[in-house]
Amino acid sequence: MVGMRIVVLAGGIGGARFLLGVREHARSIGAEVTAIVNVGDDVWMHGLRICPDLDSVMYTLGDGIDPGRGWGRAGETWSVKEELASYGAEPTWFGLGDRDIATHLVRSTMLAAGQPLSAITARLCERWQPGINLLPASDDRVETHVVLADRAIHFQEWWVRHKAELPAQRFVFLGAETATPASGVMEALAQADVILIAPSNPVVSIAPILAIPGIKDALKAPVAGISPIIGGAPVRGMADKCLSAIGVECTAAGVGSLYADFLTAWLVDPADADDTVVNGVTVVPTPLWMTDVPTTATMVRSALSALEK
Ligand code: GDP
Ligand code: CA
Repeated sequence: MVGMRIVVLAGGIGGARFLLGVREHARSIGAEVTAIVNVGDDVWMHGLRICPDLDSVMYTLGDGIDPGRGWGRAGETWSVKEELASYGAEPTWFGLGDRDIATHLVRSTMLAAGQPLSAITARLCERWQPGINLLPASDDRVETHVVLADRAIHFQEWWVRHKAELPAQRFVFLGAETATPASGVMEALAQADVILIAPSNPVVSIAPILAIPGIKDALKAPVAGISPIIGGAPVRGMADKCLSAIGVECTAAGVGSLYADFLTAWLVDPADADDTVVNGVTVVPTPLWMTDVPTTATMVRSALSALEK
């Protein structure tokens, strides 16, 4: 008998930590997990294709992540980055570690040979054994760009180089309109028993996934979302800057309202329980700090039981 099928929409670090809990709970109930991961952060640098969110998830679930930074490889060295800087090769503001570069070399070589990102990701996962089915949202190029007063720049430049300090007018998901969901994405959504929205950045991690035609309409199974905002602030990162750019309040209710069309249940921290009303959605107060894997697995259990009701 096939167990429950859980599909998770996820970004990078928040998505990865959440998926550790999903995997833990799924193992205890014999469920199968598929993660559909944002590709809007993907970028070419120094001739290499970099997929920050896919790699954060893959390294975290494969136990290769640097736990202190929360991104990139454990035990990393930076010789290539220093050599590039000595050439004055731009960009110099992006952290490309030596170990990490091996991943980007394998990916870029396979891309050049015409392989789709989904197949490349599966190949990389043969090494990392994440214990879930890891899919990019699209095999096509979809890139988040940030519109400023005088120009538009790639999301990575805005986020990493400028630390989200340049006022953003809006975010554009270049290529999304003509992109199609990656191989396996529509099948996973069609077969899902439940869909979870990770506590990822709603504006630049979840929205670019939903911008790919077909995905939003395929959210037919019951959907539970987990708020990335606790007590009116992002737990880490600069989601507040992204939300203010699109005119949404940085609260659990604000993010819930972005998802109201397709949510069945919205998990908020007890700190936000009294203030959160999302029309037509069951609000479920549950501790949302992902302090460790068992705590995160408990969060996942609450999400699934809210969907059973
Ligand atoms: P990124 O792509 O690496 O920026 O990561 P994501 O978009 O997947 O996740 C970033 C979001 O995770 C931020 O908005 C944080 O508020 C949220 N986040 C990080 N840690 C926690 C946590 O322990 N609990 C909750 N609820 N959200 C968290
Ligand atoms: Ca990201």
